[in-house]
Amino acid sequence: MSDKPCWICGDPSGSREHASKKSDVQLKFPKGTKRHRLFRSDSLRRNRLLQGANADALKWDVPVCPYCNTTRTQPHDRAWERLSAWLHAANPPIRAGSVIRGDRVFAQHARRQMLRVHLYFAKQMGCRILHVQSPIDVAPLATAILGERACPELFLTFDKSEDIGIATIQISNFPNVSDEFYRVTAQWTYIIDPIAVTLTYRLAGSTFPLLANSWHPRHGTTRLVLGPITDQP
Ligand SMILES: [Zn+2]
Repeated sequence: MSDKPCWICGDPSGSREHASKKSDVQLKFPKGTKRHRLFRSDSLRRNRLLQGANADALKWDVPVCPYCNTTRTQPHDRAWERLSAWLHAANPPIRAGSVIRGDRVFAQHARRQMLRVHLYFAKQMGCRILHVQSPIDVAPLATAILGERACPELFLTFDKSEDIGIATIQISNFPNVSDEFYRVTAQWTYIIDPIAVTLTYRLAGSTFPLLANSWHPRHGTTRLVLGPITDQP
């Protein structure tokens, strides 16, 4: 049990949030697959061997109450599961330049479902920021999740990742922060081949440029344009 309040709603917490969706990990590494080994790399340690989708290393030490971790955000998790599965199974396979229409992925309520995808990554971004003990304010992310509204400061970019051909899942990169920007800017790329999702979080005062194919629910479209991912550590 953590003695810190839930970062989303403020309630006493007793849960640790998963760093990577278990479903993503199972999608990439089906159950019983012996020839794959799964590694996690993050700012604390590189290539840490994981023992399965429930491995403790997939969890972050971030206080989230059970209600926020399950009931509140379950529709967001489901929406990302659906989009992620669609991108993995796309035929022909996705490539840089592919245009993904939300209403092809979600037969109904495509805008609402894409908002939920955005909110799924709002939770991931908040957990990531807190996990690395960054001083960036996560309150706008919590407000968005609580209110079921888009976070004005969070932009997503979906890219075709390079097929690295080995069973490594890169769960987290270093937050892209510098002395000048570290209180107002965070950027993080979540890679589950063949998809890379780059999260750019910019608070007031940040001059950090947005990627050309950034998507935000307030753009009024559910259309995603996949780019090539070019800047990986
Ligand atoms: Zn909570």
